[in-house]
Amino acid sequence: MKTFYIKTFGCQMNVYDSQRIVSMLRGRGMVQTESVEDADIIILNTCSVREKATNKVFSELGRIRDRKKTSALFGIIGCVARESGADAFRRIPELNFVLGPQSYHKLPMILDNPDARLLNIDLSGLEKFDELPPMTDSPAVAYIPIQEGCNHCCTYCIVPYTRGRELSRAFEDVMRDVRDAAAGGAIEICFLGQNVNGYRDKDSRTLADLCRDTAKIDSIKRIRFTSSYPTEMSDDLIELFGTEPKLLPFLNMPIQSGSPDVLTRMNRPYSLELYIDIVRKLRAARSDIQISSDFIVGFPGETDADFEMTCDIARLVGYINSYSFKYSPRPHTAAAIMRDQIPENIKKERLKILDDILTENNRAFNESCVGQTMSCLIEGPDKTGRHIIARTPYMQKVIVPAMPEQRVEEQKSKRVKNKHQLSYSPTLLLSVKITSANKCSLRGEIAA
Ligand code: SF4
Repeated sequence: MKTFYIKTFGCQMNVYDSQRIVSMLRGRGMVQTESVEDADIIILNTCSVREKATNKVFSELGRIRDRKKTSALFGIIGCVARESGADAFRRIPELNFVLGPQSYHKLPMILDNPDARLLNIDLSGLEKFDELPPMTDSPAVAYIPIQEGCNHCCTYCIVPYTRGRELSRAFEDVMRDVRDAAAGGAIEICFLGQNVNGYRDKDSRTLADLCRDTAKIDSIKRIRFTSSYPTEMSDDLIELFGTEPKLLPFLNMPIQSGSPDVLTRMNRPYSLELYIDIVRKLRAARSDIQISSDFIVGFPGETDADFEMTCDIARLVGYINSYSFKYSPRPHTAAAIMRDQIPENIKKERLKILDDILTENNRAFNESCVGQTMSCLIEGPDKTGRHIIARTPYMQKVIVPAMPEQRVEEQKSKRVKNKHQLSYSPTLLLSVKITSANKCSLRGEIAA
């Protein structure tokens, strides 16, 4: 029986793409392996959003080349494949295939012609969704893309180049995926898109409509979406947080910078007043909502005063679970050729200052959760098998002692790969009382 190895870098969109590939290869009778040495086909699903990420992929490819079987097929898919194109073959001549994020459904072509070399980095839009076989099994959390690409053209971002112009999938196709995921065992749906709240189908149906229809499915208990662009937050979607209990009270809405000048140079044309007004409306709709953001520090031309404004907004909004990065120039982007690139040591200093603020926000929020009881989604056992790891509605990690009857080793469960299997409640949701907190995680106990 042939085996395949797949490693995923980057965002949830890549996680979804990998799930589809796993499903496709299993459908062809192949078995997944964790061992590069044993695999007959090796796939790296790659991310090029930061320079470091691209370099990491090529280092990994070099290591795999030395460890793999001579006969194994070996290639990259995703954004680095799209960015590098034929140059990837020059850097790693042993590669068999290079397939962009909208071309990976062509993978069977190389399986059927293993002596060929396959390069396809076309932006074929939504074609892959039509050609991939349906998924028959689903993880508890199903990530479902509702669009591809992005029209916002932020000056630092490579996504419009790697994933193309924004295209929304047909409403019925998305809902078919939701129903398939529910039938396959999913209880949480996470809609994905680079500009997820910009979703519009041909009849102008929106993300809010998708959430409403999904909430009608009994077995789906939690709904969320990522990532939202501030100016696409419609009042309809904001109000849904107040009326639809299955929509989790947690929203990723990246601001990137607190400086109007930097936002202009980033080509993110919203004012701070508008952004803060959206946050105010969200909190009016649902008082317990929490917001997360992504930040870029050291964007070209960012002054100390600009950076201070970013720190101010991070404190003001009180973001939790946020990500901050040093700006890194990407090919095919306007910011890469801007003047006034910021020296690395200043970027590093600013990142540390912002990270401290975000960590403090996390700590304060985590501590405010102590004493509350929350419905948490079980992810699996910890390494010892004596605890359960679960996620709160705010995606915080919570560690809960397993009940004695749950400490069953070697139990068969399709949910958990760990050797120390736990017998979970069939719903995979646990009511957990939070008993303590630190800056990274919570501890809790199963509530009566
Ligand atoms: S909105 Fe997001 S995905 Fe689109 S160009 Fe800007 S950063 Fe990139």
